[in-house]
Amino acid sequence: MNITLQELTKRFPARGRKAKGETTAVDSLSFTIPDGMLVGLLGPSGCGKSTTLNMICGLETPTSGHIFFGEEDVTALPPELRGVGMVFQNYALYPHLTVMQNILFPLENLKGKARPTREQMRDRALEAARLVQIEDLLDRRPKELSGGQQQRVAIARALVKMPRVLLLDEPLSNLDARLRLQTREEICKIQKKTGITTLFVTHDQEEAMSISDRIVVMKEGVLMQQGAPQQVYDDPANLFVAKFLGTPPINVFEGEVKGGMLTLAGQKVLPVPGAPDRRVWAGVRPEGFVPAADGALTCELSRVEVLGRDVSIVCAHPACPAGTLRAILRSEHEVDPAAKQVSFALRPEKTFLFDRETEVRIP
Ligand code: ATP
Repeated sequence: MNITLQELTKRFPARGRKAKGETTAVDSLSFTIPDGMLVGLLGPSGCGKSTTLNMICGLETPTSGHIFFGEEDVTALPPELRGVGMVFQNYALYPHLTVMQNILFPLENLKGKARPTREQMRDRALEAARLVQIEDLLDRRPKELSGGQQQRVAIARALVKMPRVLLLDEPLSNLDARLRLQTREEICKIQKKTGITTLFVTHDQEEAMSISDRIVVMKEGVLMQQGAPQQVYDDPANLFVAKFLGTPPINVFEGEVKGGMLTLAGQKVLPVPGAPDRRVWAGVRPEGFVPAADGALTCELSRVEVLGRDVSIVCAHPACPAGTLRAILRSEHEVDPAAKQVSFALRPEKTFLFDRETEVRIP
């Protein structure tokens, strides 16, 4: 079942004692979570991710727009009738209940015909516990569990009602780096196994890129771009998306297109046939630099960092307002660490041009 957001807008009264007017948390947002897919909703803090999630589960009412579960318009449906499983950043487990009682809780709250028998409840809770591999922990209380185990309990509790959609709000942010990695792989596996349509909210681009079938990138309540992670990385629609995705981040130069040539601080660095003359931002991915004796882009070498398989070249260029730029190369023999300067050619498929004013990509 596809989940579709149609021109969804949410305005809040501005906060603070002297505040006037309204904050637009989500602004005419439209996207679809295709049936059975895991979509990562990604953007910096305050861009409206949680508000979007809360509107999908029914905790917030949209100011305007619609939410569809399949063909059904659920915009006005109360949360308990939507069939949504929710997992929060802080797990929100009941501390006085055991793991089993926590998982059973949503079923025990069901009323009337929807309420399964005791035996069915137990079977379903056990099945959910097995899915997230916590069968051995059922008699413990939350404080006797690690962060990762608590998060698995929260996932089991969200799945036990067999929801139509699973919403995860920054589910890994309270875990340490190692557990984050492990738990994100587990979430991915569970999602594939159950085939449940899932929206995963995070501000961590690497996390979103690594587990999502598709990503949706937001800024200040507005959708910036959506697509498969690799496609968005390889084909960013604007400077914001180009800068937001990728570790290390893209290198940004102040440049100019003149007579079909990209020019950076007077150096003609790349032919850009067909591009009209104008001032641009030129973004070059760290893997977009090729050391070349006669390379067009000459940089001042600061240092060479050996990272194992790759080497990272830190250097400076007058057209790079950030001060330093970073190139990632495969072989450690390509650049002499004692050299003062290093010359690069640019890979055209890793170099993107953006209008200097609008920051929209120039095709
Ligand atoms: P974070 O990653 O920090 O959780 P977010 O992307 O989830 O951020 P939201 O929590 O959705 O962002 O907030 C979006 C905007 O709406 C922010 O400017 C926030 O201050 C504002 N906002 C959210 N909830 C309310 C509210 N109940 N009343 C007033 N403003 C709100």
